[in-house]
Amino acid sequence: MAEQVSNKVASTAGRAVSPGLVGQGFSPDIKPSELAGALAPEARSAPKQPTPRARVQAMKEYHPPLGSRDAMRLDFNENTFACSPKVREVLASISTGDLTRYPEREPVEAIVAAHLGPDAAEQVALTNGVDEAIHVLFETFLEAGDELLLPVPTYTMYEVYASATDVRVVAVQADDDLQFPFERLLAAITPRTKIIAIANPNSPSGSVATRAQLVELAGKAPHAVLLVDEAYFHFHGETVIDLIGIVPNLIVARTFSKAYGLAGLRLGLLLGPVDLMRWVRRVLSPYSVNSLALACLPPAIDDSGYLNWYVSEVLAARGEFEAALDAAGVRRWPSRANFVLVDIGPQHAEFVHLMRAAGVLVRDRSGDPGCDGRVRITIGTREQMAQAILALNQTVAALGLTKAKGKTK
Ligand code: PMP
Repeated sequence: MAEQVSNKVASTAGRAVSPGLVGQGFSPDIKPSELAGALAPEARSAPKQPTPRARVQAMKEYHPPLGSRDAMRLDFNENTFACSPKVREVLASISTGDLTRYPEREPVEAIVAAHLGPDAAEQVALTNGVDEAIHVLFETFLEAGDELLLPVPTYTMYEVYASATDVRVVAVQADDDLQFPFERLLAAITPRTKIIAIANPNSPSGSVATRAQLVELAGKAPHAVLLVDEAYFHFHGETVIDLIGIVPNLIVARTFSKAYGLAGLRLGLLLGPVDLMRWVRRVLSPYSVNSLALACLPPAIDDSGYLNWYVSEVLAARGEFEAALDAAGVRRWPSRANFVLVDIGPQHAEFVHLMRAAGVLVRDRSGDPGCDGRVRITIGTREQMAQAILALNQTVAALGLTKAKGKTK
C-alpha cells in the first residue's frame, strides 16, 4: 500500500495523476475523457505515434503455433511425458517466502557448475530458456556491420533475434542431405563474422557437427564467438563443454526444456570462458530466472536416474519410429535428436492436418530454407510412438503416399 501511495503524486480531490503527466504540463485533476482536449493542437492533429527502430518495423512476426495443443504433442520437441517426480515434490513445497523474495541465481549456478564440471561457477549463467541466452548473447556481441554466420535450415530464433539488430545474417544452405555444411561455413568466415551459431544436434534436420569441425571453425574465427547450442545434447551424447576455456571463443548453450521436461519453467544456460561471460552478465537481467525454476533445477539435475530412463525410452522409440517410416516408404533424415524430419512432399499440409485428426500434432517445416514439403515429428515414449505409428500409417494410406507413388527415395 505504501508503495502505491508513494508512486502517485499531485492527488487532487482524491484522484492521482502520474508524475509523468504533471511533468508534461497536464493539470493534475484532468479526467482521461478530457485528455484529448487538453493536448497541444500539434499533438492532437499529428498522426504520429512513437516509432520503433527501423529494424523492428522490418521484423517478421513470429507466432509459433502453440494454440489448441490438446493432443499428443509431437510438434515442439518437448519432453512428451513428464519431468522428474523429485521436481514435483519441490514445487509442492514452495513457500510464500520463496515467492515474495527476488530470485537469487548465483547459488544455483554454482550447483549447475559443479554438475557440468567447468572450472568456475562464473563460467555458468542461467537464463530464461536458451531463447533468452541467444537474445542476450546477440545483444552483448553484435554491432552494426557485424555478421552472424549460420548453417540453414536451423533453429528459427537465431534469425529472429538477429533481425532486431543491425547485423547481417550470412546463411549457409545445407545440401539436400541436410548434413552440416562444414566446408562452406569455413569459407564464409570473414573479418566481420562476430557470432557463429551452431545447433548441435541441429533442428529441424537432426544432423550433427563433429567436435573436430567445431574446433576448426572456432580456430578459423578467433574474433568471433562460436555458440554451440546443445539443446538436444542428451539424445546425442556428444558435447564440447569440456573445451570451455580451452577454446577461448567457445560458448555452449544448454536447455532444460527438452530431456528434463521443464519447458514451461523456462530454464537454460550459457557456459563460457569467464572473460566472455562477464560481458554477458552485464546484459542479462539479474531476475530473469524465476524462483520456481531455480528451486526445481537442483532436484532435476540430481535425478539422473529419471533423465537416463527418459532418454533411453526416446532413443528406443526413435529406432522403432524410424523403422516404421522406412516400412511405410516415407523418406527421412538420420537424426541424433528427439525428433525426425520426414519428406511428405506437396501434401505436407494435409499430412499435418490428418495427423492432427488422428490425435497427433506434428510440425510443418515447409517454410524453412530448403525444407519444402518436410515435416518434423518429435519422438516421445515407445507407447506414444506406437500410437503415432498407427496415425502415420493411416495418414500415409489416406494420402496415397506409398512406396511406389509417394515422395519417397
Ligand atoms: N535451441 C534449439 C536448437 C531449439 O530447438 C530450441 C527449442 N525448440 C531452443 C534452443 C529453445 O530452448 P528453450 O526452451 O530453452 O528456450
